Amino acid sequence: MSIVIEKPTEIASTVINQMSLFNHEQVVFCNDNETGLKAIIAIHNTILGPALGGTRMWMYNNEGEALKDVLRLSRGMTYKAAISGLNLGGGKAVIIGDSKIHKTEALIRRFGKFVNSLGGKYITAEDVGISTKEMEYVKMETDYVTGLPESYGGGGDPSPVTAYGVYMGMKASAHQVYGNDSLSGKKILVQGIGHVGENLVKHLTEEGAIVYINDINQERLKEVANLYKSEVVLGDACLDLDIDIYSPCALGATINTASLERLKCAIISGAANNQLEDENLHGRMVMEKGIVYAPDFLINAGGLINVYSEMHGYNRERAMNQATHIYNTTLDILKTSKAQNIPTIEAAKAIAEKRIAEVGKLKLTY
Ligand code: NAD
Repeated sequence: MSIVIEKPTEIASTVINQMSLFNHEQVVFCNDNETGLKAIIAIHNTILGPALGGTRMWMYNNEGEALKDVLRLSRGMTYKAAISGLNLGGGKAVIIGDSKIHKTEALIRRFGKFVNSLGGKYITAEDVGISTKEMEYVKMETDYVTGLPESYGGGGDPSPVTAYGVYMGMKASAHQVYGNDSLSGKKILVQGIGHVGENLVKHLTEEGAIVYINDINQERLKEVANLYKSEVVLGDACLDLDIDIYSPCALGATINTASLERLKCAIISGAANNQLEDENLHGRMVMEKGIVYAPDFLINAGGLINVYSEMHGYNRERAMNQATHIYNTTLDILKTSKAQNIPTIEAAKAIAEKRIAEVGKLKLTY
């Protein structure tokens, strides 16, 4: 989609058409010439509660790309909250720009004012390119913010909780495939060893898994390989490894037609959002290859669980306990998928949609 300023009716029809495709409720375009802020806030669904989702700052090639990303991510948040039993809807925001160059206090605070103007319908948090530091600036302009540093009564970095949830989802997948959930001796590739990936490597090596690590950042590879017993695999050669489990923990869309031709594994279970390049096509392709795929929005929900806990008086132990439930939910979904011969992503979406429909009906009564 290209934005043509001279033809505003064309923009409107294109944007609203895209919104109606997945039934988004509201999309807010934000602009401020003084600070250079250009942002989009997407609210997908607020049946279960306010739409909560992080703000991503990224140098998108064009506005159409940013819109596509925010629509896709906000819908994923609806599923993530619903399947995790949280009383939250799905939303997300993107700020168009290079976080290393364009991120200023004024720009972030101006963004906070836009969040505030929605009166609590959207609650923000950090995401790629945005840290807890920026959430302090947002907090200066609105109370509709989570993911604050511990010094502000927040939960701080949510990555350890996310990694623990992914670990739970991976163990449940192992139980489904091997009959027990031990990861000891299993060959596991962790692709992307950032905040979540490193914490996951810690759990896996502690349990005695044989861990391969891959990242585009050479320094990170050295650091993590020094800290935990793991083998570095450079470049996309990692996709040709003979492994038991592939754990995508970098970017989305790494499960696609090309990678599925190369991947030799029994399980895919990782932290990245939107791992399937095409939800329908690749969800089914994974199943037909006999690979068990633990749905991303389910097993990476630890971060959301963590910020949700913040809204009710932060308690890390409670957040970790709640993330433990990811194990049983994953197991239920994998069993349903097998029994009904449907892709795991379909089984997971059906459970989330059922909860939204049922709880939505409750709200009709006083
Ligand atoms: P991060 O930025 O700390 O780490 C990402 C790592 O991936 C970096 O080390 C980066 O160098 C590496 N990477 C980037 N492109 C790569 C490529 N092509 N090949 C290999 N490595 C590559 O991010 P994070 O917080 O660890 O999050 C990882 C993923 O999990 C992201 O997709 C994020 O959206 C998702 N996620 C994170 C959380 C959380 O709590 N942090 C919660 C839910 C989902």
